[in-house]
Formats: sequence, C-alpha cells, structure tokens
Amino acid sequence: MKQTNISVFVPHNGCPHRCTFCDQRSISGTQAAPAAEEVRELLAAQTDTLRSSNTRAEIAFFGGSFTGIDRGYMRSLLATAHSFVAQYPDVYTGIRCSTRPDFIDDEILGILEEYGMTAVELGAQSMDSRVLELNERGHTPEDVERAAAMIKSRGISLGLQMMTGLYGDRPEYCVETAEKFIALGADTVRIYPTVILEGTRLGELYKNGEYTSFTFDETVELCAKLLRMFDSAGIPVIRLGLHASTEVENKMLGGVYHPALREIVESRIFFEDMLAEMRRLGGNEFVVCTDPKNISRITGQKKENRIRLEKLGYRFEIKNEKGTRLRIYALQDT
Ligand code: SF4
Repeated sequence: MKQTNISVFVPHNGCPHRCTFCDQRSISGTQAAPAAEEVRELLAAQTDTLRSSNTRAEIAFFGGSFTGIDRGYMRSLLATAHSFVAQYPDVYTGIRCSTRPDFIDDEILGILEEYGMTAVELGAQSMDSRVLELNERGHTPEDVERAAAMIKSRGISLGLQMMTGLYGDRPEYCVETAEKFIALGADTVRIYPTVILEGTRLGELYKNGEYTSFTFDETVELCAKLLRMFDSAGIPVIRLGLHASTEVENKMLGGVYHPALREIVESRIFFEDMLAEMRRLGGNEFVVCTDPKNISRITGQKKENRIRLEKLGYRFEIKNEKGTRLRIYALQDT
C-alpha cells in the first residue's frame, strides 16, 4: 500500500506578516484561494485513481498559514476534506495542514479536532531568536515550543519545518534547531534550504550585497548532518528542498535549489560513510556491496563520489547485494 498527500494550496493572501524570504505566490505556484467546491471536485476526481493504484492519501492544506485564514472559509475546506475521509476511509487516511506557531491556540485546535485533523506542521524555520527576528518572522522560539506542546497534548501528529541559510543564520544554529526539534518530539520534519526570490526582502539584501545564503556545498554538508540527526532520533524527514517549480526557478536570485537535492544529500552521506570505512579498513582497492536501489547514490551525481574517492586514492567496484545498505571489504581480503 502506497501513501501520498493530496495537496491543496491555500495562499495566505491576507497575511499581515512579511517574512524576508516569502513570496507566497511563487512558492505555492497559485494566487487564487480554492473554493470548497473546487476541493470537493479535486478529491472526487482523485478517489478512484488512488483506490485503483492501491494508494492511501492524506488531504493536505499547504501553502500559507492555514489556521490564520478566514474561519468560515477554513471550516468550509475542513468540512469538505472531513466528508471524504468519512466516506472513503479506505482511501483518505486523514487531514494535515501547515501553519505558523503563533496561529495555534486552544480554540483553533478545538476546531481542527472537530474535523479530524491528524497532523499539524509548524513553520518554525529556526529555533534561534536572532535569526527569527532578522527574518521578520514575528514569532519566537518559545511560540514554537508552546504550540508544539499543545499539538502533542491533543494526540495530533506534530510536523516541524526548518529553513537553512536564512539572513543571519549559521550552520551551527541549524544543528541547534534540529536538536530542539528532536527534544520537542517532532513526528515529522521538513527541511527547506533558503531560496532567495525576486520581490522579497532577502532579494533586496542579496542584491545590496548584505546577504548571501550558504553555498550549495555547505548546504549539502549541513543537510547530510541534519538527516543523520533526525534518522538517529527515528524522525522521518518527509521533505528536503522545495518542490520543483518553474516559477521558483524563474524568480530565483540565489540560495540553494535543486530538483534532486535529497538524492544529492543522501549521496553525500554514502560518500562520508564509504570514506570512513575505507580508512578504517586500510588499502586502496575495495568492493562496495549494496542493494541495487542505492547504486546511483553510491556513485553520486555525475560520478562525484567515485571521482572524489579516487582523488583520495580509493578505488572501488560495486557488487549488488539485495537488502544491504553498505558493506565494504578490501579487495585483498576476498
Ligand atoms: S511565510 Fe507565511 S507568515 Fe510569513 S509572510 Fe509568508 S505567508 Fe505570511
């Protein structure tokens, strides 16, 4: 049984905030807020397709600050989603939304519970108060802690979203953010390296030369570390990097965006593990045993891992070994 999200983008057109990185329209790829009837049509059109492909789905309201939109409109969307979950429990497993930490309180959680909300994701972005302030988020790390505790106390799955490379950010602050997410009991995490978009405050700072985000390589190295941390804590990272979007590509001034970012980061983790193991084993000719599904990440994009290891004096051949992540032996040991 496969699992997916049916995503409904709800842009927060009336948002009173102006976070430095945000151009909501570019990120969601749509400006118009969908009417409940349109959501109903979308779900009705998907139901048979999902069932026939043996896929179950959560209905996900993303794109803005869901709990900050007009209450009547929010309820109409929730009622529509809830009716599909109730009518087709074999297809729709629940409802999730993303929102700001300071848009969570008891009243709003009561409404979400009424409609069977199963997961709430908080755009925390950073747990460093100065980074939040510099990026005009308008909330504090304490708001994240408070909202996270309220969500967990109601038995709703807690998702936490972080960004890397914001204005004033440092890799060590991102690592501290990840540590705090783990301590808060996140059930899922999303990691978004900053993309600097035209028409945003970050875009102005970038053009003035006052800001540049982490480099691509710094981001890959950092995200590899973050993935390891969340993996060790048993927390799934359900997204790494923005979804591929031509609109974002067209408006991007700088920062880090790559449609295959996750694969590149996972490939870096394989590189680090292979290098450590080759150094431990000694020698310079190795056999790397792995499941066929890992081969592209073992060799790396454009054979990057192979080239880097060769530059360090290590050569290897790959042997298929179903079910194995990574097992290496030196050739003289065969
Ligand atoms: S990121 Fe969210 S809170 Fe910030 S300006 Fe954009 S819509 Fe508003």
